[in-house]
Amino acid sequence: MAKIENLIKDLQDTDWHRREVACKELGKIHNDSVVPFLINLLDDNHPPVQQAACDALGDIGDKRAVFPMLERVDSYKRLRRAICRAFGKLGDLRAIDALLVHMNDDSPSVRFAAYKSLGQLGDKRAFDPLIENLRHDDWHVREAICQALGTLGDKRAVDPIIQRLNDDTRVRWAACKALGMLGDAKAIEPLLPLLDDPETGIRSETVRALMKIADTRGIMPILAKLNDTQEEVQAAVIDALVSFGKARVVSAITGDLKNDIKPDFIGLDYLERAIESKNKSIAKFAAQLTQASIHLIKPDPSTCLCSTCFTRFEPKYHQLSITNKIKCYVCMSCGKAGGMLFDVNEIIAVLNKEMEENFIQLQGVIRVNWLKNRIMFDMDRIEISSVSDQDVIELVEVIKSDSDEIRAKNRKKILCSIKENVSLEPATLEMLRSAVGIVVTM
Ligand SMILES: [Zn+2]
Repeated sequence: MAKIENLIKDLQDTDWHRREVACKELGKIHNDSVVPFLINLLDDNHPPVQQAACDALGDIGDKRAVFPMLERVDSYKRLRRAICRAFGKLGDLRAIDALLVHMNDDSPSVRFAAYKSLGQLGDKRAFDPLIENLRHDDWHVREAICQALGTLGDKRAVDPIIQRLNDDTRVRWAACKALGMLGDAKAIEPLLPLLDDPETGIRSETVRALMKIADTRGIMPILAKLNDTQEEVQAAVIDALVSFGKARVVSAITGDLKNDIKPDFIGLDYLERAIESKNKSIAKFAAQLTQASIHLIKPDPSTCLCSTCFTRFEPKYHQLSITNKIKCYVCMSCGKAGGMLFDVNEIIAVLNKEMEENFIQLQGVIRVNWLKNRIMFDMDRIEISSVSDQDVIELVEVIKSDSDEIRAKNRKKILCSIKENVSLEPATLEMLRSAVGIVVTM
C-alpha cells in the first residue's frame, strides 16, 4: 500500500517526468482507488502525462474512465490515439460510436488504434466498416483490421481475410492469426503455402492457426514442419501436435478406419528425419510418435514394398541414447517409408502396352507396369504381352546394369513368360535368356 501512496503523491509532483512515471507504475498495479487521480491527469498541462494517464486507465479497466475519455477523444493526435487504444481495453460499448468516427481519422496511428479496439469490443456494427477498409492503401491499417476481424469472431470475415494471405509481411502475419482465431476449416488449404513462408514468424503463426482450427487435415503439414530449421517454428509445431493429441497425430499416419482416415505414411518420413534433429525435444517427441505408429502398423519388411521403387523394406535403427534404440522401416532403395504397401508376396513386371495403371495390387500380388516404370526393382516374374523389341532390349539393359548385389545374385531366379502372339527377334530373345532365369512362351 505504501507503494501506491507514494505513487499517488508522485502524481502531484511538480516534475512532470515523475508524474508520467507514476502513471505508468499505477497502470501495472491495477488498483481502482487511483482512478479519480488518473482522470484528473487527463487534463495535465504536459501531453506525455495525459497519455500515460490514459494508458494506465485503460490497463486498470475501470469504466469510470469512459465518459471523461469520450469528452476528450477529439483532442490532439497522440491523446486521440491513446484514448482510442484505451477504449478497447475498457470494454464499454458507449465507445463504439466514437471509434467508428475515428476509423476515418486523418492519422493512420489513430485509425490503427480504433480498428483494434473495435475488434476488442466485439460489436457487430464494426464489421461492415472493417471489411470495407480491408483493402486500404496503408498496410498498418490492413494489419490492424485483420487483427480486429479475428477478435470480432464473425466467420463472414474468413474469405476476405484469406485474400490478404499474399499481402505485406505484417498483414500476412495478422491474417494468419485472425484465421486461427476464427477457426474455420475453409482456411486450411489457403494457409498451407504459408508454412513455407520466408518469414519465421509467419511460419510459426501458420502452425498456431492450424492448431486452433484443429482439423485433422492440418496434422500432416504440421508434422512436415518438425524439420523446419528455426527453433521458433519447431516449438510451435510441438505445441500444435500436443494440442491435437498423440492419438490423433498417430492416426493421421496409420489411418483410422472408424473415422474414415486414410493412412499417410509420409508422416513416418517426417518423423524419421526429426529423430536426427539436434533439438533434443524434437528428437524425443519424434521418436515417441514413431514408436507409437510402428506399434500400430506392425510392418513385416519381407512383404512391404515401396510404391515408388517397387523395392522391399528393411529395418533401420536410430540410437537415441545408450539404452534407447528406435526401429523404423524404410525402402531399401530410396530409404523412405512414405510409399509403403503391405502384404506383397509376389512382384510381377508387366510389359503390356494396353495396361493403363501404374500398378495393380491384388491378393498379395502386385503387377507393376514396367513400360511406365523403366527401372530395376524386386521383380519375381516378368510378363511380356505386347511390346517392341526395343522395349525388351531396354529391360535387359536395366536388369544387367542393376547395382544391387543381392538382387543381382537372384536375377537367375526370375521367370519370364511371353505371350504366344508376341514376335521378338531371335537376338532379342537370346539377350533376354541371358539376363533372367527361365523364358517361356505361353
Ligand atoms: Zn523406395
